[in-house]
Amino acid sequence: LINVSLPDSSKTAVLRDKLKVEIENQIPREIGEEEVLVKVMAVGICGSDIHFYEHGRIGRKAVTYPFVLGHESAGVVVKVGKNVTSFKKGDRVAVEPGVSCMKCEYCKKGRYNICPNVQFLSAPPTNGSFTQYIVHPEHFLHSIPDDVSFEEAALVEPLSVGIQACKNAGVMPGDDILVTGLGPIGLMTIIAAKEFGAKKIIVSDIEPLRLVLAKKLGATHFINPKEEQLTSKVLGITNGNGVDISFDTSGQPFVMNEVIQVIKRGGKVVPIGFPVTETVPLDITQMIMKEISLLTVYRFANTYPLGIKMMASKKYDCSLLITDHFSLDEAELALEKARTNKQTSIKIMVYPNELPANR
Ligand SMILES: [Zn+2]
Ligand SMILES: [Zn+2]
Repeated sequence: LINVSLPDSSKTAVLRDKLKVEIENQIPREIGEEEVLVKVMAVGICGSDIHFYEHGRIGRKAVTYPFVLGHESAGVVVKVGKNVTSFKKGDRVAVEPGVSCMKCEYCKKGRYNICPNVQFLSAPPTNGSFTQYIVHPEHFLHSIPDDVSFEEAALVEPLSVGIQACKNAGVMPGDDILVTGLGPIGLMTIIAAKEFGAKKIIVSDIEPLRLVLAKKLGATHFINPKEEQLTSKVLGITNGNGVDISFDTSGQPFVMNEVIQVIKRGGKVVPIGFPVTETVPLDITQMIMKEISLLTVYRFANTYPLGIKMMASKKYDCSLLITDHFSLDEAELALEKARTNKQTSIKIMVYPNELPANR
């Protein structure tokens, strides 16, 4: 049983400079009337955390030190504000990291992922969840069933990006899709597409381990572009027709232009995550000739209920993605491993309170 008594302090992994993490005890701030104090049980390390840790910025978004990383988290409710009605002490929750204003025109339209006033955990200047306790608004917490682990609940965050991609692309039952790049987001896109009813799920990555994981998660056809040619292989698999939708998580401009050649007439190309170069030259002429649409994905909105349902269904073994486990004291070690071991580390979990027994 998890101890849910009120803490005096919250041990926190603080980024002091590029590549430099220090552990310190902080005092959690007082909770507001609509806020909840959550004991953080698991936090996944995301590509953006690694980027901020290594470079101190992503594009124009720069870290001001000290800063706290981490946004893929789940935990237990320790205390609720006066007006909180959905949760009580001891409830297990997934933490949706983007706290939107719910007042602007985008929030009103339900597109709260593009709210200009959003405060997103671990996106500067908002501190993240590499800490034992966080204060979070009731409306961005989601109950999780007893048989969904804290790790799985934390993974609902990257899964949400996959769900948002499938939602934006309008994946329909029977669609054939291609996923290029099989980091956590690519792998999560596979299961989201499966949930939306995709038929052929063709995947491509140069790391054999990632192709094996993709197979376990439900992908149907596999391409290692180091050994075979992506375009001819995809056309072979689809009887020369190509795919309905292509999702790219590699961020490589040449990959995006390659996939355009194997998208059906009227199909869609969906970059997920930021490209590795600032601008990407695209073969618009070919896109026009086939009326291919380009659809983008920025974070997610209204995806947590489905994500949690998918985890609870046990149809997809997402625990396969978790390759490493670290305590909060080892946060720097964990980030360092995430930065340097992209071959065999897929998702690294950090446990701010207690390490699981099976580590
Ligand atoms: Zn993330
Ligand atoms: Zn808003």
